[in-house]
Amino acid sequence: MSSSSPRSLDAYGWDADWADAFESFAERGLVPGRVLRVDRGRCDLVTPGGVVQADTEYVVPRDPSPSSQLRSSRGDPMSLICTGDWAAVDPVGADPRYVQAYLPRRTAFVRSTSSKRSEGQILAANVDHAIIAVSLAAELDLGRIERFLALAWESGAQPLVVLTKADLVPDPVGLSYLVSDVETTAPGVRVLPVSALGGDGTEVLRAVVADGTSVLLGQSGAGKSTLANALMGADVMDVQTVRDMDGKGRHTTTTRNLFALPGGGVLIDTPGLRGVGLYDAESGVGQVFAEIAGLAEDCRFHDCAHTVEPGCAVLAALEDGSLHERRLDSYRKLLRENERLAARTDARLRADMRKVWKQRGAEGRAAMEAKRGRLR
Ligand code: GDP
Ligand code: ZN
Repeated sequence: MSSSSPRSLDAYGWDADWADAFESFAERGLVPGRVLRVDRGRCDLVTPGGVVQADTEYVVPRDPSPSSQLRSSRGDPMSLICTGDWAAVDPVGADPRYVQAYLPRRTAFVRSTSSKRSEGQILAANVDHAIIAVSLAAELDLGRIERFLALAWESGAQPLVVLTKADLVPDPVGLSYLVSDVETTAPGVRVLPVSALGGDGTEVLRAVVADGTSVLLGQSGAGKSTLANALMGADVMDVQTVRDMDGKGRHTTTTRNLFALPGGGVLIDTPGLRGVGLYDAESGVGQVFAEIAGLAEDCRFHDCAHTVEPGCAVLAALEDGSLHERRLDSYRKLLRENERLAARTDARLRADMRKVWKQRGAEGRAAMEAKRGRLR
């Protein structure tokens, strides 16, 4: 077996496709590693030689070909390496040791960094399952579930809704109503009641996460930490503290955000993922409300806004009760939120472009001056 498919990385999700994608880097003597956490220009990665630290300042964004120029990633937050990325790292002995590139992402969680800034921030990469934890201890907030679903779909991961604290709803009929309420809110998504305390549903969840990489989403208090502990087992929690093994004798103790689960699969648990805003999530929103998009196809006008138009299939569905007002309102709210963000992003892009034009203009003028000088 070549060094580009190290067995020790299998537990972290390494597979034949990653090995293929890595081949050109292996030829350059680089080492594959999965990012466990990133912190101010440095990251921890698990490599065939153990957990190492590397500097992240230089990556080759988007074009992972060996010939491409190394480039600073500063300025483009989307090109910053993040937890879950597969990276090509300098070999042992390089000092400083850099992350030279990351492999093209299969999926990515992006969120708006704050209400003032409109940049996207990558929270996690290469996630297969987005587990949305929703507590049954409080009244169900379907709008909130829809927002998490939009984020999940947009990332490319398959969402799964876990209704936590199912032990607090001992009546099976009552529980089945709650499950079916959420199911109608989440077409195409599995809804699983789980009690971390009683153990109900945890085996099913374990089987889901045993394949691929999962993240836990959900409001504070939804039961995510409890679920994570149940999935990881007490022994794995000890692994929280990783040792720097890059041969420099440093023994740093850090908290990782990515874990290999004892029953197989990988869990990413980053605090930043827990409170989310939408970012460029129009198609994600569309997927959450797939039935509304389906109805809209039958509207008389293809650009129907479903407000007052004649022959509107969405309004007809409201009328006959097959579509609930709440659902349509929620759809519009999420679309509006997404549009506002998109508008802010456009404003920022335009400002950036102006800067570039100004710069180019100055360079152009300087070049003209120089030319004139030579001609003179
Ligand atoms: P997080 O903020 O999403 O990480 O939520 P936690 O895991 O910290 O849980 C919040 C609270 O819910 C804690 O007091 C837990 O003990 C409680 N909790 C978590 N899971 C269950 C469960 O399955 N049943 C019950 N009854 N309580 C739970
Ligand atoms: Zn319509």
